[in-house]
Amino acid sequence: MVGPPKNLSDLSRVEAQVRVTCRGCGAIEVWELDALIAEVRKKGGNTDWTAARRALACPRHCPAPRIDLLPLPYGKQRARRRAHRHALVNLSLQVLREAAQRSGSEPVGTIEVRLALHVLRPFVREQRLLTEYWTAATAEPRHPWTSCHLPYRWIAQRLIDEGAEVDEANRP
Ligand SMILES: [Zn+2]
Repeated sequence: MVGPPKNLSDLSRVEAQVRVTCRGCGAIEVWELDALIAEVRKKGGNTDWTAARRALACPRHCPAPRIDLLPLPYGKQRARRRAHRHALVNLSLQVLREAAQRSGSEPVGTIEVRLALHVLRPFVREQRLLTEYWTAATAEPRHPWTSCHLPYRWIAQRLIDEGAEVDEANRP
């Protein structure tokens, strides 16, 4: 998109959300485009890009509202979400991988390991793999076969199968 859109509805082509900022008080609110268009129309406003802001209230209803609108392409948001998921998955894998390295000689059922397993839960989608890891992490007494290496590999492989971007160092 080059320059500001002429009308709110132009944004539907780039699947945008709109950030509503009040320069009067600094309040910020992100709207889904459809909801914003409906709101402007409900207030009897014009969905023309420069006029639409006049139909909108300050998110905080401050006494001196000055509303600005900024289109937020989903692309940017999606990229941020993807980077966030990538960090969650790989930081958690790093915790489990390092714990697995120690797990042959000591129990590794630490709070960090528990947290990492919880974080991975929605990405792994199979509780059994995480439970296997935890069982191996906490087994006493320790034996070479109580290590977490195998459960770690299952978890990392499952994440790859589920389409997660797993860093080279964390690959099974
Ligand atoms: Zn305000």
